[in-house]
Amino acid sequence: MTGSEDLIRQARSATVGTLPKSPRKNTAVIACIDARVEPNRILGGDQGDFHVIRNAGGLVTGDALRSLMVSQFHGTSRVIVMMHTDCAAMAYPTATERDRLEAETGRRIDFDLYPFDDLETELRRGVQRLRETPFLPNRDNIKGVIYEVDSGRVRTVVE
Ligand SMILES: [Zn+2]
Repeated sequence: MTGSEDLIRQARSATVGTLPKSPRKNTAVIACIDARVEPNRILGGDQGDFHVIRNAGGLVTGDALRSLMVSQFHGTSRVIVMMHTDCAAMAYPTATERDRLEAETGRRIDFDLYPFDDLETELRRGVQRLRETPFLPNRDNIKGVIYEVDSGRVRTVVE
């Protein structure tokens, strides 16, 4: 066996015991997929404490909003948007890379790539989008933070 089959074969039993469906800390975290970014560990939480919504960049996308709606339906009332330094999503794909992909495949990329070039600007934009979304019942406690991967520090950008 190779690749993901190996990983699945070696999977340990991971029952959730008596954990409730709603997260104990009533908080949803939107974070990047980056393997260095572990919201539970960074925020001092444990399994069952948070809903973690992940995508490349930790962006407030349409799908992140959809997941957040489900999260708030299941009891979360606070949101932390966590972006991070040295984020690979910030530079990918470049316009050149996108053009190359489209030339190679002969097809236009038909999904939103959410390009961004400044962490703080994108973080503020994302928090603002959440605060202005009328479909979210809980919009009073939304914070935007940047996790600094080198120092391990979390810096609040949007209170
Ligand atoms: Zn990232």
